[in-house]
Amino acid sequence: MLNFYNTLIRKKQEFKPLKDKGVGIYSCGPTVYWYQHIGNLRSYIFSDILKRVLEYDGYKTKHVMNITDVGHLTSDADSGEDKMEKAATKEGKSAKEISNYYWKIFRDDFKKLNIIEPDIWCKATEHIKEQVDLIEKLEEKGFTYKTADGIYFDTSKFKNYGQLAKKNIEGIESGKRVKMRDKKNPTDFALWKFSEKPGIRQQEWKSPWGVGFPGWHIECSAMSMKYLGETFDIHTGGEDHISIHHTNEIAQSEASTGKKFVNFWLHGAFLTFKGEKVSKSKGGLYTISGLEEKGFNPLAYRYLCLTAHYRSPLGFNLDSLKSAENAYDRLKNIVQEIKNDKKIHPVRSPMRLRIGSRLWRLTSNGVNEKYLNDFKNAINDDLDMPKAIAILWNLIRDKNAVGKLGTIKEMDKVLGLDLLKKEKKEIPAAIKKLAIEREKARKNKDWQKADELRKQIEKSGYLIEDTENGPKLRRK
Ligand code: AMP
Ligand code: ZN
Repeated sequence: MLNFYNTLIRKKQEFKPLKDKGVGIYSCGPTVYWYQHIGNLRSYIFSDILKRVLEYDGYKTKHVMNITDVGHLTSDADSGEDKMEKAATKEGKSAKEISNYYWKIFRDDFKKLNIIEPDIWCKATEHIKEQVDLIEKLEEKGFTYKTADGIYFDTSKFKNYGQLAKKNIEGIESGKRVKMRDKKNPTDFALWKFSEKPGIRQQEWKSPWGVGFPGWHIECSAMSMKYLGETFDIHTGGEDHISIHHTNEIAQSEASTGKKFVNFWLHGAFLTFKGEKVSKSKGGLYTISGLEEKGFNPLAYRYLCLTAHYRSPLGFNLDSLKSAENAYDRLKNIVQEIKNDKKIHPVRSPMRLRIGSRLWRLTSNGVNEKYLNDFKNAINDDLDMPKAIAILWNLIRDKNAVGKLGTIKEMDKVLGLDLLKKEKKEIPAAIKKLAIEREKARKNKDWQKADELRKQIEKSGYLIEDTENGPKLRRK
């Protein structure tokens, strides 16, 4: 039985798709005004595992992810600058160039982390018509009103407003401290914002209400319903979206259709640093390329994420990443040894095999049934990946277990850790460059600089040894 913890009811619930074996999933994508940090990426590793588990169980998923390239303001309370416009001004580029640049890097990170791309990427700026249509529908049904700066959703008119946020209702109430301007209720939110002075913003469109741009929440309702239907199976995002963004998505969508919007709401917990969400001020705000420059394999970060349950906060620091990488390397080495061990490979299957007091059953593709069943039970129990990883280690350490290789191969379809792939251990280009600079400094007898560069190399996790044939670099 497959079950998920559904934020709507705050309980684990058996998963039943709306249609046969096809499952619609929508994941809130990033605002592409800057690099995505490893906290953001934890959220997407979680939705990747969700998708892989569904596929493993025989479902056919249709996964949609949006790209927010307009309308997300620096304050979630519909005020402040548009993050895209601000970045474009700062970098002296067009908003489109900015969004395409950071979106590409985001997709590169997906590749490095073995995150399967969604079936559909959708950008807010390419769905203005759908958003305007949806706002018009809400207007016809009497859910909107106009203020000096935009068209707003009247949350007092929507009966179940805030149902998703439940315990966080105080969070919503505290919105009262937010400047009301001429909003009717503190929780009301912008559907369409007017350009202060048309012609100045890079991204603005004509609409029945005036020149402007869509509010942040409307894009997700318009695009998810366009691609997945008015009611669909699963919606994912980080836990920070529960109280405002997803609460507002539900209000807009259900007010416009009169139908239930989403059956299962799944939320991922934060990546934390010193007990708090990773952030510029608190630290831990690394990118995947930043970790690579320090010599880490991105898949070690994926492994680290899998060692924590997606609903538990995961404390991050470079030491914990280092330990995860050591465990991951060990795992891969053992898998290579199993692969090379002629004694246990290949196994004939299907078969039953008695070793000592234990009777093993192998399936036709050489999979150890007991271990695979344990693994399936773990992943189907609200994606219990820490348990699944523990089962993998138990299998590996079990001296008597048969069919190890076939079983690991099966498990890796869900884990996505490239466990059977042989690793080429490359020294990162940035480290090689430091070593070359150090060599130059030594030739120039600039011992201080050479020493500083050596320390820098060591801080990044590498050692430089001066041999007869010149300096040699290796991992610490
Ligand atoms: P944003 O671009 O801010 O909308 O964030 C993209 C996704 O990353 C959202 O689903 C957020 O909930 C999620 N997110 C942001 N910060 C973190 C964090 N520290 N840990 C895990 N997920 C996060
Ligand atoms: Zn969203």
